[in-house]
Amino acid sequence: MKKVNIKAAYLAVGDELLIGQTLNTNAAYLGRWLNRIGVDLIESRTVMDREYEMVEAMKQMLNKVDWLFVTGGLGPTKDDITKKAIAKTFQRPLVYDPNLVRHVEEFLLRIGKIPTLKDTSDLFLIPQGSKVFYNDQGTAPAILVEKEDKLLLAFPGVPREFHHLLGDKVGHELKKRYTFCPPLQTTILTVGLGEPMVERAIESIRSKLPQEVALAFLPHYGMVKIRLTIPPKKASDDHQRLESAVSAIEDVLRPHVFGRDEDTLSRSVGHLLMDSGGFLGTAESCTGGFLAHKITSVPGSSAYFKGSIVSYANEVKQNVLGVPSSLLQKWGAVSEPVARKMAEGAINSLGVQLAISTTGVAGPGGGTLEKPIGTVWVAVSNGTRTHAQKFVFPYDRLGNIEATSIQALDMARRFLSE
Ligand code: ATP
Repeated sequence: MKKVNIKAAYLAVGDELLIGQTLNTNAAYLGRWLNRIGVDLIESRTVMDREYEMVEAMKQMLNKVDWLFVTGGLGPTKDDITKKAIAKTFQRPLVYDPNLVRHVEEFLLRIGKIPTLKDTSDLFLIPQGSKVFYNDQGTAPAILVEKEDKLLLAFPGVPREFHHLLGDKVGHELKKRYTFCPPLQTTILTVGLGEPMVERAIESIRSKLPQEVALAFLPHYGMVKIRLTIPPKKASDDHQRLESAVSAIEDVLRPHVFGRDEDTLSRSVGHLLMDSGGFLGTAESCTGGFLAHKITSVPGSSAYFKGSIVSYANEVKQNVLGVPSSLLQKWGAVSEPVARKMAEGAINSLGVQLAISTTGVAGPGGGTLEKPIGTVWVAVSNGTRTHAQKFVFPYDRLGNIEATSIQALDMARRFLSE
């Protein structure tokens, strides 16, 4: 088994990626995947669906790296010419794979479709000598082409199929052939402090952290993720040192830390609700149900979430949540008294022990001098105690909705932790 320092590159194929019609999510996915196994991705490029550009890019990139990952253009349509470009790059003919025909027929029957592809379709051609990885979630397979010590690994562009083939099939093959030295890594998740404040707080204890721990700060709408990395092949107590760095950072940021790695705020609120045994509900104006969507994205959330009232119009705030019209007239829908009454009303209307309300100006219209775009009130109530807070977010409409939902969940988390 080879234990090596592998360099990898990524070539995305597709006109739709170049013109910005499709966001290249495969690049981020591959970057994370390689980082986890400790392989350096040194270059990422995108080319159009044209053979000349593809062959040029493949040749140049293969000169620099050990592994070249390619996504897109493996399907049966006319613009899918990646296999032709690979065949040309490696100077090998395309040959027919009868096993692939069988696999595609079985796949189509399994999802209730009648196979209509002619077995002369380009879909069934592969560069001679390639290893084929059959796709259980689509028709185009992944292929591995090898020359001397270099590997080219080509995948269909559909992200779901790419994830499946990389994680479940090609990844296993690579792990059989190589021993990887992944870096030790973990991410601390915080909310409620801006990136400069998080950095400043950590700077104050930097001397207490092991020197080889590298820190990266990743902000996202009011949350800051702090990634800690220790390079591979260091001392045997690396794990302990990483954990002691985590503890030191968590201590200095304590009330703002809500989890590690794949945790989410919704999950953290869910755990607290399970512990307290109560049910949660939401009364949403500016978030329009997005908060409920975040909460219900957690499997098992029916154990603590009853539902949401999307009270976008004032009449719903009045008739369903019982917000008095005098309050709406006096203070306006985006105000502390209305946010409080919405949360308190949801306790009764939904029969829950905790309710969160949101009301704000998401934009792009509707802002005034007094209440500019991004002004939001959020309230959390348990029926006897209500906490309300104002935010002014600087984002676009969807950003303001995302930021409101994050702060609303954080307020519920802190309310439950008190
Ligand atoms: P299929 O035969 O399943 O279409 P393919 O390899 O031919 O596979 P493409 O035709 O290139 O794949 O792309 C299929 C779909 O996947 C398109 O909707 C495309 O926009 C999307 N896609 C392609 N590459 C990427 C990428 N890098 N990131 C996100 N989406 C992508």
